[in-house]
Amino acid sequence: MPDESQSERLHKDTGGFIAIAGNPNSGKTTAFNRYTGARQHVGNYPGITVEKKEGLAHLSNGTAVTLVDLPGTYSLTAYSLEEVVARRVLAEDRPGAVIDVLNTPVLERNLYLSVQMLEMGIPLVLCLNMMDEARERGVNINVERLEEKTGLRCIPAVARSGEGLDIALSEAVKLSEKTNGRVDPLVISYGPDLDAILPDMIQLVEKNKLLTDQYPARWVAMKFLEKDKDIMARARRVSEEPCDQLQAITKKVEAHLKTTLNTYPEAVIADYRYGWINSIIKDGVLMGASESFERIAFSDKLDKVLTNRLGGPVILLAVLYLMYFFTIEVGAYPNEWLTAGFDWFAGFIADHMTDGQLESLITDGIIAGVGGVLGFVPLIMIMFFMITFLEDSGYMARVAYIMDRVFRFFGLHGASIMPFIIGGGIAGGCAVPGVMGARTLRSPKERLATILTVPFMTCGAKIPVFLLFTGIFFPQRQAMVMFAFTLAGWAAALLVSLLLRNTIIRGEPTPFVMELPPYRLPTLAGMVIHTWERTWQYIKKAGTIILGISILIWAAMTYPSLPDNEVEMYETQRSNIAATAAGQSEEDLAAKIQEVDNTEASEKLQHSLAGRLGRAFESITAPAGFDWRTNIALLGGVAAKEVVISTLGTAYSLGSTDPDDDSSLADRIQNDPNWKINNAMALLIFTLLYSPCFVTLAMIKQETGQWRWLFFSLFFNLLLAYFAAVAVNQFLIAV
Ligand code: GDP
Ligand code: MG
Repeated sequence: MPDESQSERLHKDTGGFIAIAGNPNSGKTTAFNRYTGARQHVGNYPGITVEKKEGLAHLSNGTAVTLVDLPGTYSLTAYSLEEVVARRVLAEDRPGAVIDVLNTPVLERNLYLSVQMLEMGIPLVLCLNMMDEARERGVNINVERLEEKTGLRCIPAVARSGEGLDIALSEAVKLSEKTNGRVDPLVISYGPDLDAILPDMIQLVEKNKLLTDQYPARWVAMKFLEKDKDIMARARRVSEEPCDQLQAITKKVEAHLKTTLNTYPEAVIADYRYGWINSIIKDGVLMGASESFERIAFSDKLDKVLTNRLGGPVILLAVLYLMYFFTIEVGAYPNEWLTAGFDWFAGFIADHMTDGQLESLITDGIIAGVGGVLGFVPLIMIMFFMITFLEDSGYMARVAYIMDRVFRFFGLHGASIMPFIIGGGIAGGCAVPGVMGARTLRSPKERLATILTVPFMTCGAKIPVFLLFTGIFFPQRQAMVMFAFTLAGWAAALLVSLLLRNTIIRGEPTPFVMELPPYRLPTLAGMVIHTWERTWQYIKKAGTIILGISILIWAAMTYPSLPDNEVEMYETQRSNIAATAAGQSEEDLAAKIQEVDNTEASEKLQHSLAGRLGRAFESITAPAGFDWRTNIALLGGVAAKEVVISTLGTAYSLGSTDPDDDSSLADRIQNDPNWKINNAMALLIFTLLYSPCFVTLAMIKQETGQWRWLFFSLFFNLLLAYFAAVAVNQFLIAV
């Protein structure tokens, strides 16, 4: 149903309501960001914007206009979620006009969407974007001729530099004022067979008012011919009987087309739409070389190598490995400085505050917890910078292409790659947008398999955990081990998918079609902005969610405090030591007292709520090599994976009372004889695989619409992680 209040709000609050539509990767978001000053994610990869985004733009005369950035689609059939989203916004929110952003070098294919919007009766302004590339490739467009043939305003533009955007917007606003969001729908011929039956169908639609408040009657009729499930279901809710009739007519013409031309209605409709487009652009609009004649040589040459059957995967692995290598080699220095800085700061506070709960909260809870997470900012930043480069250059799209062959085997789809990569497949992503990114998948089964396996990727929150432990146990080969864990995440995702697709989500694979965008040299400014945005997200999370959880966990590790009689007992022990001081050196005395202090601190921690919880699980987690401290950390990690680090930081900080001890968490773990390589590796495997964090779980519920998949992820992943950790631990003890 149209959301009247939403639609009215958009129209009334501002001087107008304009939507930006177009094919994937045509530059919509770039234009949207320029108009609104927003910083939505732009990437040289189709399918990055999966939700509509709203913002305010200002005309040169100061009028504010509401803009909506639609997800990119090639079509308005309901094959994928983006298409449904785009179509509903156009029909229900009713923008006053639409700026149709076209990838001009491939104008013909881009106009296919325009035709469909015109058929819906939507007022369009054509924004001939990527004019710079068109010029470079010698694709010459006669703009006046195109305007004349289509009757639409056509504005040459370069969204990246802003060229033409202002004109396109003011034209759209003018159009919106003139048309109020609706024009007569474009009527084109679909050939003798379909044209013959359409009038009857249109009459049925009109007489029964099947969705005619939102769509032109001819368009609704066509949707029956195209067997559009979404529209047919909604029309049925209005009235069943005429829908039966419409379907009967469709069936008849289907049979007829099958026997006479061996084709079906959708194909005929598509053919005639392209025919209409061709009749326009071949008529003096497109001059010079068109894309099909002169492919960009550079991209092609690069692709020969980068997407080569054998060379492609090898290069992909090398790129992945080099990324870790640089991150660790370059990032190690600032990481050390920062960690040392936080340790010094904690020591400084400890020296200048009277001992007590507040001092403990600040040093043990906040600085040890949040500081531990913030120490990794430089490394994360370097990694994000490189990922941004891969994304903007167009290489990520090639990765999808290369991986499709592999994915198919495991019951996934080439389009699963982006959710995986966003989720951390090339390290440092986040499963939340990853799960959302799965909307680009058309088949519900492949989509579900993708959603459920994205959380196995090495997301940015797991990275600090890996960095910490690989740094301690593999100082020489840290990059290699990190790389191995990323691959382990992939292996887990693929194997689990294979399992799911052969059991609870069985179904046929669907074909993969994606155009490879040309390679582009990313702009430095763009890369810096993206890197900073992602890094800032990480910092913000550390300063809010992680801070909050750190305080909670500190409290759980501090209270309830030891009963008075036990505190007294330690007091007595200390005074006994002091009483027998005669004949002992100062150092011996201090050491003895320190020992009592440490025992007390450790007892205190174990007596606390968290300590008891950690202990309660110890018998279960012992085979995996986790002691109660690790258990607390992992429990906290369900809230957010960074918490594993911050909790260990707090646990070790609380457990030590040495006033001179300002050593870092890494030093403490290194010096703890209970931490061996087997415990560490088991912990890492567990962290990689176990339950997704809260936010991801919520997203899984939202995207699948079913609680059972939330619980599935929670418990299945937990069990998987547990058995994997036990296996790793036992194996490493054995060898
Ligand atoms: P969307 O998928 O339609 O939202 O497209 P994006 O805005 O994410 O842009 C896709 C890619 O095209 C990005 O790499 C942009 O930097 C690039 N791009 C956008 N507009 C232009 C343009 O006018 N010229 C050139 N050369 N590149 C552009
Ligand atoms: Mg976009």
